[in-house]
Amino acid sequence: MTCRGAVLGLLLLASPAWSGDGPLPVVTTSTDLKALVEAVGGERVRVESLAPPLQDPHAVEVKPGQLARLRAAVLMVRIGLDHEPWLAPVLRTVADPRFTPGSPHYLDASKGIELLQADTPRVKSERGVHVHGFGNTHYWLDPANARPITGSVLEALGRLAPADRARFQANRERFLAGLDAALGRWDRALAPYRGTRVGVVHESWPYFARRFGLIVAAAVEPTPGVPPSPAYLATLTRRMRETGVKLLLVEPYANASLVGQVAARSGARPVTLVPSVGGDPGATDYVALFELNVGRVVEALATSR
Ligand SMILES: [Zn+2]
Repeated sequence: MTCRGAVLGLLLLASPAWSGDGPLPVVTTSTDLKALVEAVGGERVRVESLAPPLQDPHAVEVKPGQLARLRAAVLMVRIGLDHEPWLAPVLRTVADPRFTPGSPHYLDASKGIELLQADTPRVKSERGVHVHGFGNTHYWLDPANARPITGSVLEALGRLAPADRARFQANRERFLAGLDAALGRWDRALAPYRGTRVGVVHESWPYFARRFGLIVAAAVEPTPGVPPSPAYLATLTRRMRETGVKLLLVEPYANASLVGQVAARSGARPVTLVPSVGGDPGATDYVALFELNVGRVVEALATSR
Protein backbone atom coordinates (compact mmCIF):
# COMPACT_ATOMS: atom_id res chain seq x y z
CA MET A 1 0.00 0.00 0.00
CA THR A 2 1.32 3.46 -0.86
CA CYS A 3 1.75 6.09 1.83
CA ARG A 4 -1.20 8.03 0.40
CA GLY A 5 -3.25 4.82 0.28
CA ALA A 6 -2.41 4.10 3.91
CA VAL A 7 -3.48 7.59 4.94
CA LEU A 8 -6.75 7.26 3.03
CA GLY A 9 -7.26 3.83 4.59
CA LEU A 10 -6.85 5.33 8.04
CA LEU A 11 -9.28 8.09 7.12
CA LEU A 12 -11.79 5.46 6.03
CA LEU A 13 -11.35 3.60 9.31
CA ALA A 14 -11.77 6.86 11.18
CA SER A 15 -15.21 7.50 9.61
CA PRO A 16 -17.59 7.85 12.51
CA ALA A 17 -21.19 6.70 12.72
CA TRP A 18 -21.55 4.65 9.56
CA SER A 19 -21.12 0.98 10.33
CA GLY A 20 -21.23 -0.34 6.78
CA ASP A 21 -24.82 -1.51 7.15
CA GLY A 22 -27.79 0.44 5.87
CA PRO A 23 -27.80 3.31 3.40
CA LEU A 24 -24.71 5.49 2.95
CA PRO A 25 -25.21 8.84 4.68
CA VAL A 26 -24.42 11.62 2.19
CA VAL A 27 -24.58 15.41 2.62
CA THR A 28 -24.83 17.73 -0.40
CA THR A 29 -24.75 21.52 -0.55
CA SER A 30 -27.85 21.71 -2.78
CA THR A 31 -31.11 19.90 -3.38
CA ASP A 32 -30.11 19.40 -7.03
CA LEU A 33 -26.99 17.49 -6.04
CA LYS A 34 -29.14 15.58 -3.53
CA ALA A 35 -31.51 14.58 -6.34
CA LEU A 36 -28.61 13.47 -8.57
CA VAL A 37 -26.93 11.47 -5.77
CA GLU A 38 -30.30 9.78 -5.12
CA ALA A 39 -30.68 9.03 -8.84
CA VAL A 40 -27.40 7.08 -8.74
CA GLY A 41 -27.50 5.75 -5.17
CA GLY A 42 -31.17 4.79 -5.06
CA GLU A 43 -32.07 3.00 -1.85
CA ARG A 44 -28.41 2.62 -0.93
CA VAL A 45 -28.05 6.31 0.02
CA ARG A 46 -29.68 8.63 2.52
CA VAL A 47 -29.02 12.22 1.41
CA GLU A 48 -29.45 15.56 3.13
CA SER A 49 -28.97 18.97 1.48
CA LEU A 50 -27.43 21.77 3.54
CA ALA A 51 -29.16 24.46 1.45
CA PRO A 52 -32.95 24.61 1.22
CA PRO A 53 -34.31 24.85 -2.36
CA LEU A 54 -35.82 28.33 -2.13
CA GLN A 55 -32.92 30.46 -1.04
CA ASP A 56 -30.07 32.34 -2.67
CA PRO A 57 -27.60 29.43 -2.92
CA HIS A 58 -24.68 31.78 -2.34
CA ALA A 59 -26.03 32.79 1.10
CA VAL A 60 -27.03 29.86 3.29
CA GLU A 61 -27.17 29.48 7.06
CA VAL A 62 -26.35 25.97 8.21
CA LYS A 63 -28.12 24.77 11.38
CA PRO A 64 -26.43 22.87 14.24
CA GLY A 65 -28.45 19.70 13.46
CA GLN A 66 -27.05 19.76 9.93
CA LEU A 67 -23.48 19.95 11.28
CA ALA A 68 -24.14 16.74 13.17
CA ARG A 69 -25.38 15.06 9.99
CA LEU A 70 -22.33 16.31 8.10
CA ARG A 71 -20.07 14.77 10.77
CA ALA A 72 -21.91 11.47 10.37
CA ALA A 73 -21.79 11.52 6.55
CA VAL A 74 -19.44 9.31 4.54
CA LEU A 75 -19.58 11.63 1.52
CA MET A 76 -19.96 15.36 1.04
CA VAL A 77 -20.86 16.62 -2.45
CA ARG A 78 -20.60 20.28 -3.38
CA ILE A 79 -21.07 22.54 -6.43
CA GLY A 80 -17.55 23.94 -5.92
CA LEU A 81 -15.68 27.04 -7.15
CA ASP A 82 -17.02 30.04 -5.20
CA HIS A 83 -20.66 28.92 -5.30
CA GLU A 84 -20.84 28.21 -1.55
CA PRO A 85 -18.91 30.97 0.26
CA TRP A 86 -20.77 29.82 3.42
CA LEU A 87 -19.25 26.33 3.29
CA ALA A 88 -15.66 27.12 4.31
CA PRO A 89 -16.65 28.24 7.85
CA VAL A 90 -18.90 25.16 8.15
CA LEU A 91 -16.01 22.86 7.22
CA ARG A 92 -13.71 24.72 9.63
CA THR A 93 -16.23 24.11 12.43
CA VAL A 94 -16.60 20.43 11.57
CA ALA A 95 -12.78 20.18 11.25
CA ASP A 96 -12.94 16.71 9.69
CA PRO A 97 -9.93 15.83 7.50
CA ARG A 98 -12.20 13.56 5.43
CA PHE A 99 -13.91 16.61 3.91
CA THR A 100 -10.93 18.02 2.08
CA PRO A 101 -9.99 17.89 -1.61
CA GLY A 102 -8.38 14.59 -2.57
CA SER A 103 -10.23 12.56 0.06
CA PRO A 104 -12.66 9.86 -1.15
CA HIS A 105 -15.25 11.43 1.17
CA TYR A 106 -15.23 14.79 -0.62
CA LEU A 107 -16.66 15.34 -4.10
CA ASP A 108 -16.47 18.64 -5.96
CA ALA A 109 -19.07 18.17 -8.70
CA SER A 110 -17.60 20.96 -10.85
CA LYS A 111 -14.75 18.68 -11.93
CA GLY A 112 -15.24 17.80 -15.59
CA ILE A 113 -17.82 20.53 -16.22
CA GLU A 114 -17.26 22.94 -19.08
CA LEU A 115 -17.81 26.26 -17.31
CA LEU A 116 -19.42 29.30 -18.90
CA GLN A 117 -18.26 32.86 -18.20
CA ALA A 118 -14.91 31.51 -17.00
CA ASP A 119 -13.24 34.68 -18.28
CA THR A 120 -15.19 36.87 -15.81
CA PRO A 121 -12.60 39.11 -14.15
CA ARG A 122 -11.70 37.70 -10.75
CA VAL A 123 -12.53 40.79 -8.77
CA LYS A 124 -14.23 41.02 -5.45
CA SER A 125 -16.80 43.74 -4.99
CA GLU A 126 -16.23 46.21 -2.18
CA ARG A 127 -19.07 44.57 -0.29
CA GLY A 128 -17.47 41.16 -0.66
CA VAL A 129 -20.56 39.57 -2.15
CA HIS A 130 -19.30 38.94 -5.65
CA VAL A 131 -19.53 35.32 -6.74
CA HIS A 132 -18.89 33.47 -10.06
CA GLY A 133 -15.26 34.67 -9.87
CA PHE A 134 -13.98 31.47 -11.55
CA GLY A 135 -16.84 31.02 -14.01
CA ASN A 136 -20.58 30.64 -13.67
CA THR A 137 -21.43 28.09 -10.98
CA HIS A 138 -25.08 27.38 -11.90
CA TYR A 139 -24.02 24.52 -14.19
CA TRP A 140 -26.64 22.02 -12.96
CA LEU A 141 -29.24 24.08 -14.86
CA ASP A 142 -28.06 22.55 -18.13
CA PRO A 143 -29.72 19.13 -17.91
CA ALA A 144 -26.95 17.68 -20.10
CA ASN A 145 -24.51 18.40 -17.25
CA ALA A 146 -26.26 15.70 -15.23
CA ARG A 147 -24.14 13.25 -17.25
CA PRO A 148 -20.73 14.38 -15.93
CA ILE A 149 -22.15 15.10 -12.46
CA THR A 150 -23.68 11.64 -12.07
CA GLY A 151 -20.47 10.19 -13.53
CA SER A 152 -18.50 11.75 -10.66
CA VAL A 153 -21.14 10.59 -8.17
CA LEU A 154 -20.92 7.04 -9.52
CA GLU A 155 -17.13 7.05 -9.08
CA ALA A 156 -17.40 8.39 -5.52
CA LEU A 157 -20.16 6.02 -4.38
CA GLY A 158 -18.51 3.08 -6.15
CA ARG A 159 -15.27 3.72 -4.21
CA LEU A 160 -17.10 3.88 -0.87
CA ALA A 161 -19.34 0.86 -1.52
CA PRO A 162 -17.63 -1.28 -4.20
CA ALA A 163 -20.11 -4.15 -3.74
CA ASP A 164 -22.90 -1.84 -4.92
CA ARG A 165 -21.09 -0.36 -7.89
CA ALA A 166 -22.99 -2.38 -10.51
CA ARG A 167 -26.27 -1.32 -8.96
CA PHE A 168 -25.20 2.35 -8.97
CA GLN A 169 -24.19 2.03 -12.61
CA ALA A 170 -27.55 0.51 -13.58
CA ASN A 171 -29.40 3.26 -11.66
CA ARG A 172 -27.39 5.93 -13.47
CA GLU A 173 -28.01 4.43 -16.89
CA ARG A 174 -31.73 4.22 -16.24
CA PHE A 175 -31.76 7.84 -15.04
CA LEU A 176 -29.78 9.09 -18.07
CA ALA A 177 -32.05 7.21 -20.50
CA GLY A 178 -35.07 8.99 -19.00
CA LEU A 179 -33.24 12.31 -19.05
CA ASP A 180 -32.21 11.91 -22.70
CA ALA A 181 -35.81 11.20 -23.72
CA ALA A 182 -36.96 14.26 -21.79
CA LEU A 183 -34.20 16.42 -23.36
CA GLY A 184 -35.54 15.58 -26.81
CA ARG A 185 -39.01 16.62 -25.72
CA TRP A 186 -37.79 19.90 -24.20
CA ASP A 187 -35.70 20.70 -27.29
CA ARG A 188 -38.74 20.25 -29.53
CA ALA A 189 -40.95 22.36 -27.22
CA LEU A 190 -38.50 25.27 -27.26
CA ALA A 191 -37.35 24.93 -30.90
CA PRO A 192 -39.82 27.57 -32.19
CA TYR A 193 -38.34 30.13 -29.79
CA ARG A 194 -34.63 29.70 -30.54
CA GLY A 195 -32.85 33.05 -30.57
CA THR A 196 -35.34 34.69 -28.20
CA ARG A 197 -33.67 37.41 -26.14
CA VAL A 198 -34.22 37.14 -22.41
CA GLY A 199 -33.13 39.10 -19.36
CA VAL A 200 -32.14 37.68 -15.99
CA VAL A 201 -31.95 39.09 -12.48
CA HIS A 202 -29.05 36.97 -11.22
CA GLU A 203 -26.91 35.09 -13.76
CA SER A 204 -28.49 31.74 -12.80
CA TRP A 205 -29.62 30.82 -16.32
CA PRO A 206 -26.76 30.90 -18.87
CA TYR A 207 -26.49 27.07 -18.96
CA PHE A 208 -30.25 26.64 -19.30
CA ALA A 209 -30.37 29.35 -21.98
CA ARG A 210 -27.50 27.89 -24.00
CA ARG A 211 -29.02 24.40 -23.95
CA PHE A 212 -32.32 25.62 -25.34
CA GLY A 213 -31.16 28.39 -27.70
CA LEU A 214 -32.24 31.41 -25.66
CA ILE A 215 -29.97 34.46 -25.58
CA VAL A 216 -29.30 36.13 -22.22
CA ALA A 217 -29.15 39.75 -23.37
CA ALA A 218 -29.40 41.58 -20.04
CA ALA A 219 -28.65 41.01 -16.35
CA VAL A 220 -30.24 43.16 -13.67
CA GLU A 221 -27.31 42.56 -11.31
CA PRO A 222 -24.35 44.41 -12.89
CA THR A 223 -22.02 41.91 -11.18
CA PRO A 224 -23.35 38.63 -9.73
CA GLY A 225 -24.59 39.28 -6.21
CA VAL A 226 -24.47 43.07 -6.51
CA PRO A 227 -27.73 45.07 -6.75
CA PRO A 228 -28.04 47.62 -9.58
CA SER A 229 -27.71 51.39 -9.15
CA PRO A 230 -30.57 53.60 -10.42
CA ALA A 231 -28.35 54.80 -13.29
CA TYR A 232 -27.46 51.23 -14.33
CA LEU A 233 -31.13 50.26 -14.17
CA ALA A 234 -32.20 53.17 -16.36
CA THR A 235 -29.68 52.26 -19.08
CA LEU A 236 -30.44 48.56 -18.81
CA THR A 237 -34.22 48.83 -19.10
CA ARG A 238 -33.93 51.26 -22.02
CA ARG A 239 -31.62 48.85 -23.84
CA MET A 240 -33.91 45.90 -23.06
CA ARG A 241 -36.86 47.76 -24.59
CA GLU A 242 -34.88 48.87 -27.65
CA THR A 243 -33.47 45.40 -28.36
CA GLY A 244 -36.72 43.48 -27.87
CA VAL A 245 -35.96 41.46 -24.72
CA LYS A 246 -39.15 39.44 -24.33
CA LEU A 247 -38.82 37.70 -20.96
CA LEU A 248 -37.24 38.41 -17.62
CA LEU A 249 -36.22 35.14 -15.92
CA VAL A 250 -36.70 35.56 -12.18
CA GLU A 251 -35.65 33.43 -9.19
CA PRO A 252 -38.41 32.88 -6.60
CA TYR A 253 -36.26 34.69 -4.02
CA ALA A 254 -35.56 37.75 -6.24
CA ASN A 255 -36.48 41.23 -4.99
CA ALA A 256 -40.12 41.56 -6.12
CA SER A 257 -40.20 45.36 -6.26
CA LEU A 258 -37.01 45.41 -8.35
CA VAL A 259 -38.49 42.80 -10.72
CA GLY A 260 -41.72 44.83 -11.03
CA GLN A 261 -39.75 47.96 -11.79
CA VAL A 262 -37.60 46.29 -14.48
CA ALA A 263 -40.63 44.63 -16.09
CA ALA A 264 -42.62 47.86 -16.19
CA ARG A 265 -39.78 49.92 -17.64
CA SER A 266 -38.43 47.34 -20.13
CA GLY A 267 -41.64 45.72 -21.31
CA ALA A 268 -40.15 42.28 -20.67
CA ARG A 269 -42.52 39.77 -19.13
CA PRO A 270 -41.33 38.35 -15.79
CA VAL A 271 -41.37 34.54 -15.56
CA THR A 272 -40.46 32.85 -12.31
CA LEU A 273 -38.27 29.82 -12.95
CA VAL A 274 -37.34 27.36 -10.23
CA PRO A 275 -33.56 27.06 -9.86
CA SER A 276 -33.51 24.00 -7.61
CA VAL A 277 -35.29 20.69 -7.05
CA GLY A 278 -37.99 21.11 -4.39
CA GLY A 279 -38.35 24.86 -5.00
CA ASP A 280 -41.90 24.26 -6.25
CA PRO A 281 -44.36 21.45 -5.48
CA GLY A 282 -44.00 20.38 -9.16
CA ALA A 283 -40.18 20.20 -9.05
CA THR A 284 -40.08 16.88 -7.24
CA ASP A 285 -36.89 15.60 -8.88
CA TYR A 286 -34.23 16.66 -11.39
CA VAL A 287 -36.27 15.83 -14.53
CA ALA A 288 -39.42 17.40 -13.05
CA LEU A 289 -37.44 20.61 -12.39
CA PHE A 290 -36.79 21.08 -16.12
CA GLU A 291 -40.26 19.87 -17.09
CA LEU A 292 -41.60 22.73 -14.98
CA ASN A 293 -39.17 25.41 -16.19
CA VAL A 294 -39.41 24.51 -19.88
CA GLY A 295 -43.21 24.51 -19.54
CA ARG A 296 -43.18 27.98 -17.97
CA VAL A 297 -40.92 29.47 -20.67
CA VAL A 298 -42.98 27.93 -23.49
CA GLU A 299 -46.21 29.13 -21.96
CA ALA A 300 -44.91 32.68 -21.49
CA LEU A 301 -43.53 32.88 -25.05
CA ALA A 302 -46.55 31.23 -26.67
CA THR A 303 -48.91 33.73 -25.06
CA SER A 304 -46.77 36.84 -25.58
CA ARG A 305 -46.48 36.63 -29.36
ZN1 LIG B 1 -24.85 32.72 -8.79
